Amino acid sequence: MKIGVLALQGAIQDHERVLRRLGAVTVQVRHPSDLEGLRGLILPGGESTVMAMYLREYGLDSAIRARVVDGLSVFGVCAGAILLCTEVEGPEGVVSGALALLGVRAIRNAYGRQLSSFEEPVDFEGSPFPGIYIRAPRFIPIGSTEVLGRRPPARGGEPVLLRQAGILAASFHPELSGNDGIHRMFLQSCKS
Ligand code: GLN
Repeated sequence: MKIGVLALQGAIQDHERVLRRLGAVTVQVRHPSDLEGLRGLILPGGESTVMAMYLREYGLDSAIRARVVDGLSVFGVCAGAILLCTEVEGPEGVVSGALALLGVRAIRNAYGRQLSSFEEPVDFEGSPFPGIYIRAPRFIPIGSTEVLGRRPPARGGEPVLLRQAGILAASFHPELSGNDGIHRMFLQSCKS
């Protein structure tokens, strides 16, 4: 099964390693033609403003949007998740996400300076998943999204892993956790 990893900027190799470990063939996506024959696409973490700029420059925003609307499964991590959100709140106010496919408002760098990176268990399918947050966004669902993972109840139980049909979004970095469970779940959705 061929799975693409958007390779414009950011943490590409860690996703490729996990995907290969799980038996997928990986393709680095830089141009619309790289999307041919893919069953799924990962949008990695990095800097969402830079990635959004390159997406537009290479015509990848409309190409990816069309493929996802047509049923391509997509998994956005941190900055990659921000690209998927319909609304993105940042220093410049609220703007539309570059792909605007997921009914969520993302608040960029929501956990502030001191807390801009931290580790904390995510409550995922009833068991703790190692959550690694790096200048993570906060998610506010504004559409009919399914919450698959939350911060601990003592931290307010905010949603950090969301699904809407074939679209999956995490505000933390599962590719750095050593636990392949979330990538495995994503690959299942690419098969169906
Ligand atoms: N803060 C970054 C952004 O807003 C995301 C950080 C990350 O992907 N780890 O794009």
